[in-house]
Amino acid sequence: MIIKPKVRGFVCVTAHPAGCEAHVGEWINHVNSKGPIANGPKKVLVIGSSTGYGLASRITAAFGSGAATLGIFFERPSEEGRPATPGWYNTIGFTKAARAQGLYARNINGDAFSDDIKTKALEAIKSDLGQVDLIIYSLASPRRTHPKTGVTHKSVLKPVGAPYTNKTVDTDKGIVSTVTIEPASPQEIADTVAVMGGEDWEMWMNALHSSKLLAPGAQSVAYSYIGPEVTWAIYKNGTIGLAKNDLERAARNIDSMLKLNGGGRAFISVNKALVTQASSAIPVVPLYISILYKIMKAEGTHEGCIEQMQRLFSTHLYSAGGPKFDEGGRVRVDDLEMRPEIQAAVATIWPEVTTENLASLTDIAGYRSEFLKLFGFGLPGIDYNAEAEPHIPMD
Ligand code: NAD
Repeated sequence: MIIKPKVRGFVCVTAHPAGCEAHVGEWINHVNSKGPIANGPKKVLVIGSSTGYGLASRITAAFGSGAATLGIFFERPSEEGRPATPGWYNTIGFTKAARAQGLYARNINGDAFSDDIKTKALEAIKSDLGQVDLIIYSLASPRRTHPKTGVTHKSVLKPVGAPYTNKTVDTDKGIVSTVTIEPASPQEIADTVAVMGGEDWEMWMNALHSSKLLAPGAQSVAYSYIGPEVTWAIYKNGTIGLAKNDLERAARNIDSMLKLNGGGRAFISVNKALVTQASSAIPVVPLYISILYKIMKAEGTHEGCIEQMQRLFSTHLYSAGGPKFDEGGRVRVDDLEMRPEIQAAVATIWPEVTTENLASLTDIAGYRSEFLKLFGFGLPGIDYNAEAEPHIPMD
């Protein structure tokens, strides 16, 4: 079939297999261009490995450090002539490239929140790897069925305490409007913490620990975002921010456990705001990202997921002096985004943006092309008018 983008609001319902593979290839090239990461990880479990920051982490571990990787993700294969989700094709592209270099790469597709998938992952580690020395936790999910209670919790992206009104952009139509979001109920807050908080990360780490699958000195990292004040009501101080506070709580518990396991550690890395499937669903944030990209590209400091993760590994996780922490014990690879001059430039543009000047004041064009790239569209060297086979099995 001929596969073209079909954008519906903030999702694209199609994905291009060869385009996704080419996108993964670009990320691998970036890591190769940076050279090997000295004393990097050897056996890595990536939970949420098929897109965004998790995929970038997996690529950095494999191609920067020659690591064996076990990837966990939740993706839909192609069915009834419909293309698979991009994470499916990304994983196939990654696995092919890793194995071509002689690297171990195994994949488990299913619900990482479930006991069943955890058991499968533990069995795979036990039989193939023995132990893991790095665990990346990079899930972004709208829901979680709790493995003990069977209750399905749904996360919401809402402010807490009071309604929030701000500008937002319909990235597909290019319309800037004002949006008011009502505050979350106590139940919605609790549900969001249950989905995006730290309980599941702790469950993974406890299961690995009690099965003796953590190598001495093993490290674990999960990802968070803080961002500028203009997004705080919907992010840092909103339901997702409260869930991220819970992730930090979990990081402290896991850190204590790993310290006793041969001097390892766990921490949160605060990453840059970037176009991913997860971030495109958050109100207000895509407009902020469009402005941010414009400023950071002009300044020459723009980074994508792969640049961020390569930097996390080489200058924090595996740097000779170890990670550099902020006052809250977090690693900050959002440092360039948060520089005062960058944020001052965002704050100057923010009140000025309208539908009419969106194209000139922001990098909405860059946002759109990055968004389409997530689904394998707009990659050089791909003939998008040619027939493509959507059904590609994964082993
Ligand atoms: P993403 O949507 O690109 O990736 C999410 C991953 O989770 C995918 O691999 C998906 O398959 C997997 N997943 C989702 N539900 C699953 C389930 N039930 N079982 C197994 N796998 C499942 O998201 P992302 O933007 O890369 O986000 C990853 C982390 O980074 C999140 O914690 C997010 O908050 C954080 N973060 C994102 C940004 C940003 O701007 N995108 C910035 C800072 C931090």
